[in-house]
Amino acid sequence: MSRGLTTGGECDAYCTKCKRDTLHNIVAMDATGKTPAQVQCRSCQGTHKYRAPKEAPAAAKKAPKAAAAPKAPKAAGAKKASKSSGAPSAAQILKRWEEYVGKYAGASAQRYKVTAAFSPADVIEHSQFGLGFVTEELGWNRIKVLFQDGERTLLARHGQNPPAA
Ligand SMILES: [Zn+2]
Repeated sequence: MSRGLTTGGECDAYCTKCKRDTLHNIVAMDATGKTPAQVQCRSCQGTHKYRAPKEAPAAAKKAPKAAAAPKAPKAAGAKKASKSSGAPSAAQILKRWEEYVGKYAGASAQRYKVTAAFSPADVIEHSQFGLGFVTEELGWNRIKVLFQDGERTLLARHGQNPPAA
């Protein structure tokens, strides 16, 4: 099966204009048909060459700017198990993902949108990455989501400002 990356689809990519990872529309795929070649930023509408997202690796987690955001309570049992040494193996990720699938069986998945707000333990359906589980809020407009093939940082509440403190 393909990874669902096609012209007209969407992907996370690094935008040099926005200086961060944003959701992009795929304008053109490269010759291999596996990697986007040309993408359009949903945030600034700029079209540019595809650059892989620079999503912060779990090991080097910097405190996001939103220290003001209240810490959301973690779902019972979903203790943060962030290993600071090296990335977890694909098998570990899959196992963890399957645990979530078991735990949230019956929960209805929300379709992922950059503009929507999510909290830890929300179940989302991503057009590209499939079923995912929100594991963490990274400040005001980022969420960490565990997908079958790994954890990704996604945008949330895109275009909305944090509430005045
Ligand atoms: Zn941009």
